[in-house]
Amino acid sequence: MRVHNFGAGPCTLPLEVLEEAREEMLDFAGTGMSIVEVSHRSDTYQQVHEEALRLAREVAQAPADVEPLLIQGGATLQFSMVPINLLAVGGTGGYVVSGAWAKKALSEARPHGKVYPAWDGQPEEYRRMPRPDEIRLQPDTRYLHVTSNETIGGIRMVEWPGLEVPLVVDASSDFMARPLPWDLAEVVYGGVQKNLGPAGVALVFVKRSALDEAPEVGSYLRYEWHAANRSLGNTPPMFQIYLMGKVLRRLRNRGGIPALEQETAAKAAAVYRVIDSSEGFYRNPVETAHRSHTNIVFRLPSEELERAFLGEAERRGLVGLKGHRSVGGIRASLYAALEMESVEALAELMDDFAARNR
Ligand SMILES: *Cc1c(COP(=O)(O)O)cnc(C)c1O
Repeated sequence: MRVHNFGAGPCTLPLEVLEEAREEMLDFAGTGMSIVEVSHRSDTYQQVHEEALRLAREVAQAPADVEPLLIQGGATLQFSMVPINLLAVGGTGGYVVSGAWAKKALSEARPHGKVYPAWDGQPEEYRRMPRPDEIRLQPDTRYLHVTSNETIGGIRMVEWPGLEVPLVVDASSDFMARPLPWDLAEVVYGGVQKNLGPAGVALVFVKRSALDEAPEVGSYLRYEWHAANRSLGNTPPMFQIYLMGKVLRRLRNRGGIPALEQETAAKAAAVYRVIDSSEGFYRNPVETAHRSHTNIVFRLPSEELERAFLGEAERRGLVGLKGHRSVGGIRASLYAALEMESVEALAELMDDFAARNR
């Protein structure tokens, strides 16, 4: 039996995608091999690869001057590749420090160039995103790095800051669940293991204008090399790209970003409704307007009750609800493949548990 999987990443994938992959596992498209056994230079794989790139561009509604790249190393390698590539010809990188992931992006960038916090939410214990007028840019800033959604803190950037420098967006945990700011962004990246597929690859959109400033570093670390080789400069993570392609095709067929955005908001509203009507039994620490739609964090009156809640959830087939180890509490991740039925099962458990333990 399939469980209700609220995991924060890796997470649930669409059942029909898994079934299709199982169907094709021993004999992909009449080759007598699985997709992970064919050459990455074969026509068979090239078609899968090009289709994944095409779908990534289509679903993201990326304009023609943006290159989609598929790079290993997850979002974490992008924390380094962004400053390595964008600060190659000088300048500084500003960072909106909105939570654990943004903090990591900033600290990982430090060895590679001059970077600084342009806003820091730490004094307020990361409860919100900044208003654009609170962000302080230093002279010579090349880019402003923002985190579309803080996966651990459960905070969503509602308004993209349209300042005088291009944005770099870590979109990992709400990738394709909202329109991307192509008029403002130079790079948009994310590990695909939240909304779009299995772990092992990052989808990175880079404006062509940023490819001209290639740094003098090893090939794999240069955006320009990945773009010139259509993300096939070396052996790519073929299985991940194959599955991501299937997830993206399903997403496109279901209406793309507008549909997923609406669906995600509806799922989130169903959980926040229970939190807000629980008379303080469940507490979400984030400012209401900045609440995440994909990662909903909440506390119960005691850690003992939280343990009991998680135990009861598990017995009902609701898994992956334990909060991040750094913050504790409960976290429900409502990614693209999680069905409304699972959200309803969670809401029912929450209502029921509160009534019995108030
Ligand atoms: C998960 C996540 C990351 C890290 O992704 P990896 O692929 O594990 O490196 C970075 N940023 C955000 C916002 C995330 O949610």
